[in-house]
Amino acid sequence: MVAVIEKTSDLVSLIQNNKQKGNTVGFVPTMGALHKGHLTLVKKSIKENDLTIVSIFINPTQFNDKKDLAKYPRTLEADLEKLIPTGVDVVFAPTILEIYPDGDEKGSNIDLGDLDNNLEGAFRPGHFKGVAQVVKRLLEIVTPDKLYMGQKDFQQFTIIQYMIDSLKIKTNLVVCPIIREPNGLAMSSRNERLSHSTREKAGIIYTTLKAIKKSKGNKTIKELEQYGLKRLSIAPFEPEYVSIVDGHKLTLLNDMNDTDYAVVCVAVWADGVRLIDNIIL
Ligand code: AMP
Repeated sequence: MVAVIEKTSDLVSLIQNNKQKGNTVGFVPTMGALHKGHLTLVKKSIKENDLTIVSIFINPTQFNDKKDLAKYPRTLEADLEKLIPTGVDVVFAPTILEIYPDGDEKGSNIDLGDLDNNLEGAFRPGHFKGVAQVVKRLLEIVTPDKLYMGQKDFQQFTIIQYMIDSLKIKTNLVVCPIIREPNGLAMSSRNERLSHSTREKAGIIYTTLKAIKKSKGNKTIKELEQYGLKRLSIAPFEPEYVSIVDGHKLTLLNDMNDTDYAVVCVAVWADGVRLIDNIIL
């Protein structure tokens, strides 16, 4: 039976009870509007831990665009229907006050090691400060042995790994592969806001990433990025960036030989929705 918990104090007691019995805890933080991508994280956690907790919390401090926050889907009932068959133990669905009892609007001063300067960070000021703030708070509450995040949000998991290391948090981050729709579009809660026709065509994002990977030996970084931008500049798509970065430092690369871990990251607008994706080269 799944326990749906709203109060932080109730969750803390339940976790303490479990830890006293020697149970391991896996944690999957989400903002709800769940799809198969989220559910693979949940299933992996269930396999690897005695107790799995999924949080559903739309964190206001990570939305640099308040319209995006207002439009973010809120579908708790449907989410529970998807979660129950997985056998998850606990769904934590707190109010804003439960997470930020002292007020939330201040953001945070967590050191992100300059990993938030490029890519999403350049276009969404303050976003990662809000993400780090909420993940730090959730980790303090849940104290999980393992934290599950998706590769889809490449910069996000890189920043969270940095935060875990620098704050010496005793949680292992497990990064899970990107789950895609049949046409290759990375699954996202925001895909629901695309028109049927745009959603069908949006497979072009993944085919472009794969084409870049295929030609990485024959073209310069600049050429690869230009190629990606051109290929994605076809209505209704409008690329915001196509950037090849060092996967450790998230700095822009000039030459593929400057790293052992190159990643191409993209953000594309379509139907007023911002889609992101990436592939390791
Ligand atoms: P969100 O609810 O969008 O904040 O996502 C919650 C977690 O699910 C994050 O760690 C995401 O990276 C992960 N996630 C979202 N979409 C996917 C996907 N298509 N495949 C794998 N993981 C995903």
